[in-house]
Amino acid sequence: MDFYPVAIEKLIEEFSKLPGIGYKTAQRLTLHVLNLPKEEVEGFSKALIEARGTIKYCSVCGNFTDTDPCAICSNPSRNKHLICVVEEPKDIMAIEKVREYNGVYHVLHGVISPMHGKGPDSIKLKELISRMNNEVKEVIVATNPNVDGEATAMYISKLLKPLGVKVTRIAHGIPVGGDLEYADEVTLSKALEGRKEI
Ligand SMILES: [Zn+2]
Repeated sequence: MDFYPVAIEKLIEEFSKLPGIGYKTAQRLTLHVLNLPKEEVEGFSKALIEARGTIKYCSVCGNFTDTDPCAICSNPSRNKHLICVVEEPKDIMAIEKVREYNGVYHVLHGVISPMHGKGPDSIKLKELISRMNNEVKEVIVATNPNVDGEATAMYISKLLKPLGVKVTRIAHGIPVGGDLEYADEVTLSKALEGRKEI
C-alpha cells in the first residue's frame, strides 16, 4: 500500500503498536501530528524520551519513580505498618487520587494467570515476602475483582498468613470483572474502608 510517503507510513506503524490503537486511529493520530506546529511535536517527542530515560521502578515497592526509593516509600508520614498490594502502577495512581489511604504499596506487575501461563514466579511475590518484618501489620490485597485477581489474592493470603501478617481484601464496591483504574473515587474509598480479612 503506497498511499503515503514512507515517513508517514512509519509513524502510523509506530502508533499502531500502542495498546488499544488500531490502524485507523493510528492514521488519524499521524495526520493530527503532521498538522501540529513543529515546536509542539518536538516537545512531545522530548517528553517521550525523557519519561523513558528517567523513570524507573522503585526498588522497594515497584512503583514508577524518578528517585529511588519513590516519593511514597521515602515519605516519613506514610504508615509503614500497612502495605496495599496492587497489580500495576496505574492502580496506585487510582488509590492516591482518593487521598484517604496513608499506607505504602507493593506492585505485583501482573497477576497469577494459569490461562495465560503466568505462575507465581512471574510476578513480584518474592519481593513482597522479603518486605515482611515486624513493622508490617496488615497487607491489603487490592488486585482487580476478576478471576485472576481473586486467585492471586487467595494465593497471597496463604503465603503471608503463616508469617503472622493480617491479610485483607478490598470490599466489593468495585464491580466484579471491573478494573480498579476505572472505579470512581467514592467506590474505591468505600472498598478500602470495607476491606475484610482473608
Ligand atoms: Zn516505592
